[in-house]
Amino acid sequence: MLAYESLRESLNRLEMTAAENALDNVLESARTNELSILDTMDKLLRIETEARHERRVLGNTRFAGLPYRRTLEEFEFSAQPSIDKELIERLGTLRFIEEGTNVIFLGPPGVGKTHLAVAILLKALNEGYRVLFISMSTIIRKNADYIRKGNPSRMLSNLIKPAVLVIDEIGYTPLDNEAATLLFDVIDIRYRKRKPIILTSNKSWGQWGEIIPDRVMATAILDRLLHYSVTINIAGDSYRLREHREFGLGCINRSGKEERDGKSVAFKPTKL
Ligand code: ADP
Ligand code: MG
Repeated sequence: MLAYESLRESLNRLEMTAAENALDNVLESARTNELSILDTMDKLLRIETEARHERRVLGNTRFAGLPYRRTLEEFEFSAQPSIDKELIERLGTLRFIEEGTNVIFLGPPGVGKTHLAVAILLKALNEGYRVLFISMSTIIRKNADYIRKGNPSRMLSNLIKPAVLVIDEIGYTPLDNEAATLLFDVIDIRYRKRKPIILTSNKSWGQWGEIIPDRVMATAILDRLLHYSVTINIAGDSYRLREHREFGLGCINRSGKEERDGKSVAFKPTKL
């Protein structure tokens, strides 16, 4: 068998589809550019590894459960001066994942907690990490579902697997014993595995007694959550309300368009 055919067959049997598809092009470019054997092999295998990475990112993104797509670049730091921009950019380097540092965003509704959590997850996804975004109320609802269907450990194992877990909106409703126990187990196991959690809450630390009425449980949870952690307290106004106010204060120019900063913008009320 010719080396060419044998190589093609090997790529096929190894399921290196991208490399197999690119083989003729790579060989052609190697000939015209007089590439060395090493460079040619490198080029071919790089095509395969990149294609696999993209496939993994796509699959992970599908399972990530993101509520929307917002990036760090889209975050207007000037609108939220209480946020330490450098700290957020450091989180964007994803070192916290390897260090197992938990990230906690605290603040009133609309200040960008979920946006920042999603933006960090998007960076992690691009690097090939498996991530999960889930709200506390969804955890409670799905857990009840799994228990009813005879699979009581399913929720916990789903929350342990991803490299980064976002638990969004803790604190809107107090947690009953079952929910608090599940939250404790997630935090405890991930703490011991040094797998980080990103958490958002509208409650300050002082108000956590209202979320988890059992004091012993609350202390045990906070103890593990905070040991390796960074808390970002966001003060200030809701971004959504700010937009509304800006529109409210803007004036309508002669063409019927809203005018802001001298530029006319289409009037688009934001849904609250
Ligand atoms: P919450 O703090 O309640 O989780 P979100 O993060 O969901 O609020 O923010 C509400 C909306 O406002 C989102 O669409 C988000 O993208 C936007 N937003 C909030 N803060 C900013 C900001 N500083 N720059 C750009 N968009 C922002
Ligand atoms: Mg939110």
